[in-house]
Amino acid sequence: MCSVGDSFNLDISELESDLYKCLDCSNEFKSMGKRVLCPTCHSKKVQKIEKEA
Ligand SMILES: [Zn+2]
Repeated sequence: MCSVGDSFNLDISELESDLYKCLDCSNEFKSMGKRVLCPTCHSKKVQKIEKEA
């Protein structure tokens, strides 16, 4: 048998927030809502990034 990655280990609470990256300081953070600011430098230039599987 070789069954790998067949378990559901997803943290449901993380689905509530999205992952963003600041284009100014490259900080990655989780946030919610439409107006997202970088928590480090307070920049508005943040980009929503896909979560890696
Ligand atoms: Zn920043």
